[in-house]
Amino acid sequence: MLFFPGGRGQVGTPPQETSILNQKPEAAILLKPGTEKKLRHHYPWIHREDVQGTDVSTALPGSVVRVLDASGAFVARATYNASARFPGRVLSLSDEPIDRAFFRTRLRAAIERRAPLLRQGSACRVVFAESDGLPGLIIDKYGEHLAVQVRSAGMERLRGVWLPELLELLEPAGAFERSDMEGRREEGLEPQTDTLHGEVPEEIRIEENGLRFDVPIKTGPKTGFYLDQRDARRKLRESVLRGERVLDLFTYSGGFALSASAGGADALGVDLSAEAVDLARRHASLNGLNSQFECANAFEWLEERPKAPNFDWIVVDPPAIAKDRGKRDSLKWAIWKLAFLALSHLAPSGKLVVFSCSYQLSLQELLETVRLAAGDHGRRLTLLDVTLQPEDHPYLLQFPESLYLKGAWLRAD
Ligand code: SAH
Repeated sequence: MLFFPGGRGQVGTPPQETSILNQKPEAAILLKPGTEKKLRHHYPWIHREDVQGTDVSTALPGSVVRVLDASGAFVARATYNASARFPGRVLSLSDEPIDRAFFRTRLRAAIERRAPLLRQGSACRVVFAESDGLPGLIIDKYGEHLAVQVRSAGMERLRGVWLPELLELLEPAGAFERSDMEGRREEGLEPQTDTLHGEVPEEIRIEENGLRFDVPIKTGPKTGFYLDQRDARRKLRESVLRGERVLDLFTYSGGFALSASAGGADALGVDLSAEAVDLARRHASLNGLNSQFECANAFEWLEERPKAPNFDWIVVDPPAIAKDRGKRDSLKWAIWKLAFLALSHLAPSGKLVVFSCSYQLSLQELLETVRLAAGDHGRRLTLLDVTLQPEDHPYLLQFPESLYLKGAWLRAD
């Protein structure tokens, strides 16, 4: 069954204890010469072009395999799904069984890294996939409830191993699965949304930076809330001056607008989704704030409103339009257009805050795109600050793909 070139039948010593879900004899994939280096340096993905051969053609998608270098030496344990965009996802650089003890260690480490946030009772992302050594797995914690997202066939297959550990460690009142993102199709997986454990209400009330939000964990976008903008929303709240006018484009449940109002500003939030605007309005009254909300397309809003330089702050936080390289130009165009149009509504010395939540647009490209828009508009922009995703969405330096959220904080003169 082995078809490694060069007659390498000997693919290393099988471990004493095989994981419950491994096949026997254990499957292996052989890397092309040199590609082992990046894995040993903690890059977690094995791309199709890295693979020289496999003996896993009959293995089920997402099975745990041993990854070997061109000489047959052990490199890693990974899950392997031949038809996926990124077939291999490294679990461990040690030749260890991928069992409950393995997941307990990884989950504990992820939880400990968030100890300060969890102690404060903040809603947070407890597991951020590859960055936490748990490729393909996302866990968000909203109060006593968990939202779980399984993004790879590997984690799907290992569900019976990590899920009991997760429930044992965090003892949530309920857990809900939100595996309904696009990426699952690339892994050959169907969308899945279901209660995994306990009871899960339609909305879960959380507190963030002293503001209360209701999170529609079962039906909202992502897992119901954009946890990754926590620090930026606090920064806005701390930066606005009393009475300043703030426009929050792509407001979703009102995050930036409400934070600005809490800081003493007059805020207006705009979102295309009627459900989002309803939720944002409910959040305003829940928090006793007078932020206003409108249901509109942000592009049209900017184009059709009288172009009066009224706003002291404009926050632009569009969704990730570019999930793959091919859509990068559309994302750049959208950012250019939004920044260009927003500048007509921005007061002299007003602040423009532009986010991109797509890995496909680097920080440099984001700045470049906004620079072009400002140039075309004839305004000078000064970069005041750059912010990235918060600590519970860790950016693993060896995994550039894990840096997705960037924010440019600019002043227009
Ligand atoms: N700033 C938000 C997160 C924004 S998510 C927060 O802090 O929570 C992106 C939002 O953009 C979604 O709510 C989506 O409904 C909205 N959206 C998508 N396309 C839009 C458009 N063309 N105009 C306005 N809103 C849009």
